[in-house]
Amino acid sequence: MFRSLHMKLVLIMVLLITSLMTIVGAFMMTSITSFYIDEFYQQIESVFGASNPSNTPFVSSLRSWTAEGNVLKLQEMIEAKAGDLGLNSNTRNYYILDGRTGAFLAGSDGQDAFDRLQSSPNLLAVRSGIASGDGTVGDQSDIASNYMDVAIPITGGENAYIIYIYDNRDTVSALNGQLFVIILQALLVGLLISVLLSFLLSKTMIIPIERLTEGAERVAAGDFSDAIAVESTDEIGILTTTFNDMAEVLQDTLEAVENERNKLDTLFLHMTDGVVSFAGDGTVLTSNPAASSMLGREVAFYDYDALFGEQAPLQKVMALQRPNFVSGELHVGRRILELYLAPVSDEAGGAMAVLHDVTAQRKNDEMRKEFVANVSHELRTPLTNVRSYAETLRYDSEIPREIAESFLDIVISETDRMTRIVQDLLTLSRLDSGRADLRMSRFPLVEAIESVCRAVELDAQKHSHTLVRQYGSGITLPVITGDRSRLEQVMMNVIGNAIKYTPDGGTISVDAGITGQKVWIEVADNGIGIPQQDRERIFDRFYRVDKARSREKGGTGLGLSIAKEIVLRHHGTISLGSHDGPGCTVRIVLPVRQEREGELL
Ligand code: ADP
Repeated sequence: MFRSLHMKLVLIMVLLITSLMTIVGAFMMTSITSFYIDEFYQQIESVFGASNPSNTPFVSSLRSWTAEGNVLKLQEMIEAKAGDLGLNSNTRNYYILDGRTGAFLAGSDGQDAFDRLQSSPNLLAVRSGIASGDGTVGDQSDIASNYMDVAIPITGGENAYIIYIYDNRDTVSALNGQLFVIILQALLVGLLISVLLSFLLSKTMIIPIERLTEGAERVAAGDFSDAIAVESTDEIGILTTTFNDMAEVLQDTLEAVENERNKLDTLFLHMTDGVVSFAGDGTVLTSNPAASSMLGREVAFYDYDALFGEQAPLQKVMALQRPNFVSGELHVGRRILELYLAPVSDEAGGAMAVLHDVTAQRKNDEMRKEFVANVSHELRTPLTNVRSYAETLRYDSEIPREIAESFLDIVISETDRMTRIVQDLLTLSRLDSGRADLRMSRFPLVEAIESVCRAVELDAQKHSHTLVRQYGSGITLPVITGDRSRLEQVMMNVIGNAIKYTPDGGTISVDAGITGQKVWIEVADNGIGIPQQDRERIFDRFYRVDKARSREKGGTGLGLSIAKEIVLRHHGTISLGSHDGPGCTVRIVLPVRQEREGELL
């Protein structure tokens, strides 16, 4: 309850008023008491003279009556001065005592009352003063005691009396009592005012602070919608303005952080590399979809040991100093993954795994090596032949002319073969590097097919093949866009293959048609066909089902791969038709129109 600022304010006010009133009260009561004591001694002095009773006429008369031992006269004289001495039977009384014995002789109050006062230090001091003859006056009064008194020695002749005046301070006590009540009333009024004041203060001070607190709570909950109203120019007003500025900066910073986080989240989500982070105990903290897809299981359901425990223990990875890391290779199904494990440098520790799929890269490397090996092999065979025939001709001068000519024919045909290989390699390399610009034109498809068919007709006849053009029956083939000479090269390769790989006397049929915005060309033969296991790789460079037969037929193993590249550059497809039994069907699909920079050609 006393923790609220409002209650603290009330408490401070109450304490302040109470302590103030207590101090003022105590000060006033003490002042009144000392004033009363001073007043008492002044009255005594005005009657008896200075503290050492001098020979004022009053004291001289007292002395002379003392010398005569007339106590009654003394009593009369003192009572005559009752007004000046402030004598009052209730509070202030006088007593006349024997100076030596201290015995009560007369007084305004009775013997009984005096008997209670015998121990007064003033009285004792005066009695001993009389005994020693030095005339000491007893006029010491303690502010803390509940009475005040004065003892005056009066000596005359052989006699010595003491005039003893005793005040029980009832007057001052009554006054102080009244003062106490007044102070108490003032205190109550002060307390009332303090409560009212604290309410007033709370309006000007606490309400803005409460608003500021509410605003701070809203900001802490992430709500930056409203700034807090600034209603004053005092410290609270400045604090509110500063708080609003701080909230604005905080909002901007949070937005910037949020943006960055969103970017990172998107990157994390869509990056092709797999990333998994682990806590110090091996549990998965975060992972991206790429990691799960690469590892072929939902990473979040496993822990470090299950995922990468075999590659390196977690403790070993966590003990590494940055930027050190552990790398390894993982084989998951047909995938080859490069794995990098690094420590995470936060207090709790942990590790980060990054997976990089190198399957395609490795495959490419393999293919490149295989390609280089194939090229070397393909060139070495004809070169060896050329060299051996040339050597024979060079060193054997007695070779008959016909044999020598047949040797030279072989040399020429091997050289042609090498030229063809190099030519095909060049074509492929141009297509690969994108240097082979397609010379796009619009031409009737039927004309291109016809021109190819005419070109191969002689060759087909040589092998007694029947070349059937099936598209002729009714259907009109469209004008298409493409690089005519390259597309003719594709058809030439495919029909050429059909001729090559079909035993003499076979049938080669060429068909074409249109489906939607695409045209298709199908070349079918009833030749040796392609075994199931080779169909997948038939468009690979240098891939041949039967190397010897291909070589014998003058093939380079590059024809179909060149065809595939050209068709792909025309956004088309080339594939083998599903085929039961002998023979082979190659299907080419091409768009009727090509697009270049958003423009349909
Ligand atoms: P090649 O120069 O050896 O003919 P290609 O790339 O044109 O090279 O063909 C690759 C291989 O595909 C050939 O070696 C052959 O084994 C096979 N092939 C292609 N077309 C046919 C077909 N019509 N019938 C049977 N096999 C074929």
